[in-house]
Amino acid sequence: MTFDELGLSDKVRAAVQATGYTSPTPIQAQAIPPALQGRDILGIAQTGTGKTAAFVLPMLSRLEQGRARARVPRTLILEPTRELAAQVEESFAKYGVNHKLNVALLIGGVSFGDQEAKIMRGADVLIATPGRLLDFFDRGKLLLTGIEILVIDEADRMLDMGFIPDIERVCKLVPFTRQTLFFSATMPPEITRLTEAFLHNPVRIEVARAATTASTIRQALVASHGHADKREMLRQLIRNAENLKNAIVFCNRKRDVAILHRSLLKHGFAAGALHGDMDQLARMASLEAFKTGDVSLLVCSDVAARGLDIPDVSHVFNFDVPTHSEDYVHRIGRTGRAGRSGVALTLVTEDDAKYVDQIQNLIGNAIEWEGPGFNELPPPLETTRPHESRRGGRGERGGRRERGGERGGERSERSSRRAPVERAERSDRPERGDRAEGPVAMGRPAHAPHRPDSEPVRAARPQPDDRRRPRRHHEDDGPPVIGLGDHVPSFLLRPVTLRPAKVAEE
Ligand code: AMP
Repeated sequence: MTFDELGLSDKVRAAVQATGYTSPTPIQAQAIPPALQGRDILGIAQTGTGKTAAFVLPMLSRLEQGRARARVPRTLILEPTRELAAQVEESFAKYGVNHKLNVALLIGGVSFGDQEAKIMRGADVLIATPGRLLDFFDRGKLLLTGIEILVIDEADRMLDMGFIPDIERVCKLVPFTRQTLFFSATMPPEITRLTEAFLHNPVRIEVARAATTASTIRQALVASHGHADKREMLRQLIRNAENLKNAIVFCNRKRDVAILHRSLLKHGFAAGALHGDMDQLARMASLEAFKTGDVSLLVCSDVAARGLDIPDVSHVFNFDVPTHSEDYVHRIGRTGRAGRSGVALTLVTEDDAKYVDQIQNLIGNAIEWEGPGFNELPPPLETTRPHESRRGGRGERGGRRERGGERGGERSERSSRRAPVERAERSDRPERGDRAEGPVAMGRPAHAPHRPDSEPVRAARPQPDDRRRPRRHHEDDGPPVIGLGDHVPSFLLRPVTLRPAKVAEE
């Protein structure tokens, strides 16, 4: 099938041709013709399927008739996050090059004044996050009585983020006669209820989930203890990774995104972060810095990363095992795209057994383990005493790191090779939460700031103001893990139940 067969206007087809797309994706082929006829659409599709164009293209065609009035937008697109809203705006710029449409973005973190001016001019398309939209509406700055098309995108994410009451309110504020285009990757009962209440005889289109992972991705599990150990393990994985161009590091909780981001920066890595508590400017800046290559590591949460058009990355690190197995597929799908090779490494603690099983069941494969097993790991942080050396503690990786002279005279040579990932400037001050390191690992970078202590190499002895002393148990680490013994954890031996893998449509 070609784009010419879908019924799109000439202007839209010319713009699509300019992007270089040769044929519509399955969701586009199925959604565009009925959308152009004014039918409601229920699209069950995740990001990466081409669903944005599936609603933007027919909207552009339909908007060619009619004009916007001040304060009364003609169409409304609801997105769960500011970044997704901004990306949809970019899609309108790309596919709408031949149209003179006024597109307004209404998202938190951007000044009210600028947004109000755009709405005052009359918006053909209003792209908004639910909170900011209702804020505007409640201040009387906006009328929703002119909405001809309502798009609700990523509805299941809206549910996760607690936006369903807002969505219900918006659905009641827009005219009953509007067309609704509704997209969700999954259909939990709350979402089904919403579609039954607010869609009129929709065309249901389902694009299979990508439960398979690309064969071009090398996946591995890496055993680790609690969070502080994971931070150190992650640094080693990054330093020792081959052909690391750029990487996304996923955490399960936004609080941990912030902690890990700070930690990576303190250790001299060029890292950015993306999580829901950052203000809009900071999030946009992080994403941009990662896209342009100014930072090579992006630490993010699933919600923040969902749907973002992030370029192919060479590595994905799962700092936490995702508790929803589908998130694993989404996360690692950030690498190994379009036939390129990618690496996805997942740090696993003993508490993660259940989730690792679920992931393996979903993808229909056992994921290989790499590096030392739990029984070969050095004791977790909480049992490490300040005078203890960590000599040889990490097996192959630990040894390579120390041999690599990372903290000694050879460091500058290594750091120049690592330039895209690690900043030249490094602090030798471990963050709260880093382990105390013994004499072998204690050598400090040649350019480290002067410290008053006269025993630079042996400074691990506790000093009243010595920041290197082992810290107390950190609230983010979960319960302390003490002594793992020699047994192989049972979940490593458990057979994997294979389920037939669903084949992705795209
Ligand atoms: P989406 O699912 O909307 O997030 O789109 C995912 C990616 O697919 C975006 O980078 C689009 O630019 C791209 N894309 C959308 N439609 C097509 C198409 N028909 N052919 C090739 N790429 C497409």
